[in-house]
Amino acid sequence: MDILSKVKKSIRGLKAYDPGLTQTKYKLDANENPYDVPAVLKKAILKKAQRIPFNRYPDAATVTLKKNISKYLGVKTENIFVGNGSDEIIEYLMQTFVEQGDTVIVPTPTFEMYRIIGVINGAKIIELPLDKKFDIDEKAIITAVKKTKAKFVFLAYPNNPTGNCFSENKIMKIIESVDCFVVLDEAYYDFSGRSFLKCLKRHKNLIILRTFSKAFSMAALRMGYMIADRETVAAVNKVRLPYNINSLSQFVAVELLKADRTKVLEIIIKERKKLYALIKEKYECVDSNANFIFLKPKTPSKAQKVFEAQSISVRVFTAGPAAGWMRLTVGTPAENKLVRQILKRGV
Ligand code: PMP
Repeated sequence: MDILSKVKKSIRGLKAYDPGLTQTKYKLDANENPYDVPAVLKKAILKKAQRIPFNRYPDAATVTLKKNISKYLGVKTENIFVGNGSDEIIEYLMQTFVEQGDTVIVPTPTFEMYRIIGVINGAKIIELPLDKKFDIDEKAIITAVKKTKAKFVFLAYPNNPTGNCFSENKIMKIIESVDCFVVLDEAYYDFSGRSFLKCLKRHKNLIILRTFSKAFSMAALRMGYMIADRETVAAVNKVRLPYNINSLSQFVAVELLKADRTKVLEIIIKERKKLYALIKEKYECVDSNANFIFLKPKTPSKAQKVFEAQSISVRVFTAGPAAGWMRLTVGTPAENKLVRQILKRGV
């Protein structure tokens, strides 16, 4: 049997996602939190987690978790949807709303999964370049939505990989002008302190995504959530697999919501500012509202090797709209010191 000829046409051209794992000592390529959950807290959580019956299916409706997120955010549980990482929610959104050939609009460069998941689900992706200041062209987006009757506009806020928050006014203009979902992906919200959560009540087409992968140091256990109109949540629940969030992740997320992360966030933000102060003196770069910095190395072809020689992995973009630029995750103070030494010597 010719297996390749049976693969869906929309995904034949795709490559399997490559997270680019390297055997380096310092991982500054995936925008993770450099700090694990403190050992004492981790031990206490795992001790309590022993009560979780491994032979039973998880709570399919994630009742306790949603109650806790609801309390944490001050929104109703009917407005919350929980996913196995926000990646899974993006997949469910596309499954729910995108018909074959529907349009999805993304600025570029941005988080690659919007395009990849869109393509998998048969969407036609329109990529609209950011301007010179790495802000969105809201008029082009609005025009494209109206012309193509787009289903979604995806905006990461702050944007990955550029690290900046797009203009609030421009985003508001889009939300108010279009008959289409505007997904504001606030994965890095805790580092920016800026959110559109307060606008949810007034705008049914607004969808907000958050994750436990960054500020909550929980990337390994996969946990993300969406805050949206109750009808959106109800529709997306129709495609959700029954037990998408395992019992351990549900339990740990509830525990971590109670933990105070202020100190860790303060350190990361302070370190980002220190790193940026040096970078802006020597490189073309973007001021960041996230836990990473986007900059242009002088010799992009060598940058990766220079960092890897010191056992540091970073993300250097060799193709696409960010080609010639790199993204550097803020690490621990010791890691950032190493990074600064390398940047001072020049890459
Ligand atoms: N959105 C953005 C903008 C991201 O950068 C990332 C992770 N790199 C994600 C979503 C995915 O988050 P999760 O781990 O919750 O799937």
